[in-house]
Amino acid sequence: MNKKLVLAGGGHAHMLTLAHLDEFTNKGFEVTVIGPDTHHYYSGMGPGMLGGIYRPEEIRFATRDLVEKKGGIFKQSQVIRIEPVQQTVQLSSGEVIPYDALSCNLGSQVPDDLVQGSLDDIFLVKPIERLYRAAQRIRELSTKKNIKIAVVGSGPSAVEIAGNIWRLGQEPNMHEPVITVFAGRSLLPSHPTGVQQRAATSLAARSIKVMKNCRIAEIQTGQLTDAQGTRYDVDLIFVAVGVRPNRVIGESGIPTGPQGGMLVNRYLHSTQYKNIFGGGDCIDFQDRPLDKVGVYAVRQNPLLKHNLMASLTGERLRAFEPGGKYLLIFNLGDNTGILSKWSVVVGGRLAFFVKDWIDRRFMRTFQAFE
Ligand SMILES: Cc1cc2nc3c(=O)[nH]c(=O)nc-3n(C[C@H](O)[C@H](O)[C@H](O)COP(=O)(O)OP(=O)(O)OC[C@H]3O[C@@H](n4cnc5c(N)ncnc54)[C@H](O)[C@@H]3O)c2cc1C
Repeated sequence: MNKKLVLAGGGHAHMLTLAHLDEFTNKGFEVTVIGPDTHHYYSGMGPGMLGGIYRPEEIRFATRDLVEKKGGIFKQSQVIRIEPVQQTVQLSSGEVIPYDALSCNLGSQVPDDLVQGSLDDIFLVKPIERLYRAAQRIRELSTKKNIKIAVVGSGPSAVEIAGNIWRLGQEPNMHEPVITVFAGRSLLPSHPTGVQQRAATSLAARSIKVMKNCRIAEIQTGQLTDAQGTRYDVDLIFVAVGVRPNRVIGESGIPTGPQGGMLVNRYLHSTQYKNIFGGGDCIDFQDRPLDKVGVYAVRQNPLLKHNLMASLTGERLRAFEPGGKYLLIFNLGDNTGILSKWSVVVGGRLAFFVKDWIDRRFMRTFQAFE
């Protein structure tokens, strides 16, 4: 019987495997890809989509079309459980899919523990596709009045989201929203001082208020409450409080690491189950902690593709080498950015130009396979 490969999630770490899926199907392997949406959205351009720089179709990959074109099976559903002993995955649709090799690229989620009640007018910054709905909602409300928008969080996505909401507010016929970033202790606390200063200056110059030392304890539609009990009435809330790995893996009894992702060794397979691979935000790399950035997911692509094939054909696995320091560029929403690597920090239009060029090139490369 043909061996079965299952790709759980069609995220950034599976891009190369998806692009060359025919190499698997041509060898007679049955490949099934599972994802909640027919498309996968590129997070690096998500804030830019919110701000209106990019259209949704410019920042997404047509996962289902690609999979089917390459001879695979696409299931639009969510993986809700993995049974590593029986070698099956359970889908929210009720289907159970058997596998010989499984690769998890299930990403991460924004914790919603602070949210009480419904998510009406509350936007977690993931999944990225929701940011398009957020932009529509801002447009709807801002044509009538100056609305108040809160961004809860202090990291890069909070800065990018705030800057791009500002951009959206500059569209004609809009009343400019009042934007406040509730930054906990400080803005970009784990970034170099030069990056922090540039971000703070950029936001302040556009009247985006940053509330430091203000830890939000509760979020509900229309209202935030901080740790001291002070309440803030707002119209829309964005939650950018960091991410945690998809819980499906831990809940399935597969060993997880300190951050809650699937614990994988240098071959990017589970430390306990040799036929369960993983990449991107849903893994904890055993050798050293990796930041939850798309850069690592992208770097894992060639290795995952090779090792998935090797695990099915019996060839030798290769070890993943995470590489050195990576380039970080933030899109501030006003055609400027902040670029940082090693001790170099560059702000302004050049930084955004470089980010836009890299991101568009990435999209072109993989959209070409569609
Ligand atoms: C606003 C924002 C901006 C960012 N900008 C950058 C940046 O510029 N550069 C950078 O390096 N990093 C950036 N990051 C971090 C980056 O998003 C993540 O590190 C990256 O998305 C990880 O890729 P991934 O494929 O592991 O996860 P994801 O991109 O989350 O992909 C996971 C995939 O799995 C699917 N999925 C989820 N649950 C299930 C399920 N149960 N069953 C089946 N499929 C499922 C999802 O639909 C998705 O397609 C940003 C993050 C955010 C929130």
